[in-house]
Amino acid sequence: MPTAPETAPRYANFVNGREQQGKDGATFQSINPTTGGLFGFFAESGAADVDGAVKAAQVAFEGPWRALSPTRRGRLMMRWGDLIAENAEHIATLETQQNGKLIAEMRLQAKIVQDWLYYFGGIADKIEGRVIPLDRTSVLNYTVSEPFGVVAVIVPWNSPTFLTIMTVAPALAAGNTVVIKPSEVTSASAIELAKLAENAGIPNGVINVVTGGRAAGEALVDHPGVAKISFTGSEPAGRAIAAKAGSHLKSCMLELGGKSANIVFDDADLDQVEAGVLAGIFAAAGQTCIAGSRAFFQVGIYDRLVARLVARAERIKLGDPLKADTQMGPVATAAQLAKDERMVAQAVSEGARVLTGGSRRSPQGLENGFFYAPTILEGAKPDAFIMQNEVFGPVLCVTPFKTEEEVSALANGTQYGLAAGVWTSDVRRAHTMARRLQAGTIWLNCYRAMGFNSPFGGFKSSGQGRLNGAEAIQHFLQTKSVWCELSRDVQDPFVLKA
Ligand code: NAD
Repeated sequence: MPTAPETAPRYANFVNGREQQGKDGATFQSINPTTGGLFGFFAESGAADVDGAVKAAQVAFEGPWRALSPTRRGRLMMRWGDLIAENAEHIATLETQQNGKLIAEMRLQAKIVQDWLYYFGGIADKIEGRVIPLDRTSVLNYTVSEPFGVVAVIVPWNSPTFLTIMTVAPALAAGNTVVIKPSEVTSASAIELAKLAENAGIPNGVINVVTGGRAAGEALVDHPGVAKISFTGSEPAGRAIAAKAGSHLKSCMLELGGKSANIVFDDADLDQVEAGVLAGIFAAAGQTCIAGSRAFFQVGIYDRLVARLVARAERIKLGDPLKADTQMGPVATAAQLAKDERMVAQAVSEGARVLTGGSRRSPQGLENGFFYAPTILEGAKPDAFIMQNEVFGPVLCVTPFKTEEEVSALANGTQYGLAAGVWTSDVRRAHTMARRLQAGTIWLNCYRAMGFNSPFGGFKSSGQGRLNGAEAIQHFLQTKSVWCELSRDVQDPFVLKA
C-alpha cells in the first residue's frame, strides 16, 4: 500500500544538534522505487538553510571540536561507530526503502562503517609534524598538519551511509567539522547518522545535514565559510563542482563514475569468474561506481562463458529488496529506469545485440516499481555510446579479445579509470596487466572488494584524491611550516648570506 501524503514522514534538516525545518518551508518528495509510492517529505534547503548549517559548523570548529584532544575526538568517533552498528537494521531499512538496493547489502554497509570510524578515530592522535634540518641552523623549523575548517560532504544515493562515512571519518579525524548534503533520493539515513552522532557525545554543530537537490549542493560549494569540498557522484556534476571550486580557489576532492573493465583470460577459473562478473554488474542492479560494466573475455572461453552468464542472468530473482530471497531489486529512480532503456535502445541502434534482458520487468505485486531486467549486450563497438558512458544500471557489454595488448588498449580506451578486474591463473600476466591498466583499483581474481585501510579513488575522469587508507586523512589537512629563530644575533637586512 502506498503511503498517503497525510501520514508520510516529514524530515527536517539536522543542524547544530537539532532538527530544523527549512527556512522557507519548501519540501520535496522521496519515492520508494520498489512500489513507486511515496516514502516521505524532506526540506528543500536553500541558501539561507545552508548558511545556518555552515555557521554552526564554523562555531563548532573554532570551539568545542578544537578544544577536544585528538584522542578524545577519536574516541567519540568510535562511540558513534558503535551506535551506527547497533542501529544498522533501522538505517538499512530506510536506505532500501529509498534506493531499492538489497537490505543485506545496506545492512552490511551500515555495520562495517564502524571499522572506518575505529580506523580513522585511531589515526586522530597520530597526525604528526616534522622537524626540518634547515641550512640556517639557528632556526627551529617544524611543520604542523592543520584541518581546513568546514568541509562540505556531497554524496550520492547508491551507498548513502557507507559513502558518507568514507568521507566524514577522515575529515573529522583531521579535526574538521562537516556539512553533509545527502542525495535527494536517499536523505533519511544521513539525518539518522547525525542524530546518532549527537547521542555519541560529538558536540553540536560538528556534523550537520542539509537536504535538498542540486541547488542546495551549489549553495554549499559557493558558501565562503566552506573551506574544502568532498564530492562523490557523477562525472558531469563533478566537473561542474570542480569548476565552481576553482572559481572560489577552494580545495576539492572528487570520487566520480566509471566504466570499469572486467577482463577474463582463457586460463581463469570459470566458476570464480562467473560469480565475480555477476557480482560486478548485477549485485546492486549495476548501481555502483565500480560496476564491471564492460566485460572482455578471451576467445577460447568467450562462447562458453557468455552462455553461462546469460543462463545465470535469466535466473536472477527480481523482487522486493527487503525480502531475504530477492537477488536484485529495482533501480533507484524513474529517471534511472528511463536512462537504462534509452541507453540500451541507443546501443542496439549502434549495432549491439541483446543476449538477455533489455526491457522493464514487473514482479508480481510490484507493477509500479522501477524494475529493469539483468541485461547482457554483445557486439557493441569500442567507441559506441554505451561503451564510453556509465549506465549505472544492470547492463553488461561483453566483447571477445585475443591478446593482452589488445585488451589493455580496449580497457584503457575510455575517459574513466576507477577500477578493473583481471582473471587469470598466470601470476606474471596478472601483475603485467595490473601495471598496464589505468585505474585506481585493480582486482586480480576478485571483484568489488574494498577495505577501510586500502586507498580508493579514480584515475583520469573518475576522480581526484583518495578515500580509505592512511593517505585519505592527508586530503583533509593542510601543512603549516613554523620558523623560530633561536639566536639573538641581529640579521643585517643588507647582508645576504648564501
Ligand atoms: P549525482 O552527481 O547526480 O549527485 C550526487 C550528489 O551531488 C547529490 O547529492 C546531488 O544532489 C548533488 N549534486 C548534483 N549536481 C550538483 C551540482 N552541480 N552542485 C552541487 N551538488 C550537486 O550522482 P547520483 O546520481 O546521485 O549518483 C550516481 C553517480 O555517483 C554515478 O556516476 C556513480 O558512479 C557515482 N559514484 C561514485 C563513487 C566513487 O566513490 N567514485 C561512489 C558512488 C557513486
